[in-house]
Amino acid sequence: MSLPHVPGHEFAGEIAEIGSQVSRFALGERVTVPFVVGCGRCEWCRSGQAQVCPDQTQPGFTQAGSFAEQVAIGAADFNLVRLPDELDYVTQDMVIAIQRDEQKHRRLFEGFLRELCPDEVR
Ligand SMILES: [Zn+2]
Repeated sequence: MSLPHVPGHEFAGEIAEIGSQVSRFALGERVTVPFVVGCGRCEWCRSGQAQVCPDQTQPGFTQAGSFAEQVAIGAADFNLVRLPDELDYVTQDMVIAIQRDEQKHRRLFEGFLRELCPDEVR
């Protein structure tokens, strides 16, 4: 990461501009994105494992993040997630943070259990 840099990796917002290849979303829709933005084309992305996509980006790390006025998201049809109207932006960000930590902790916990009792955990 080179400085100056705009951090921020958990965010939600409204689509202000849209690329010519985006077909599933429209201007003004409320959306969020996962922590890792996959290319949407490779075998990892197509199998739902964008976190290991060799062509991934991470807003707030590899590009400007959510403290920027606007954040560009590649492969938007693949990466954007629509927000329900009843979910406000602050709650959405908290859900993402909690979900990410739960996934991380679950993987660590499952790995720990596999080492302790490999026949019990698959
Ligand atoms: Zn990919």
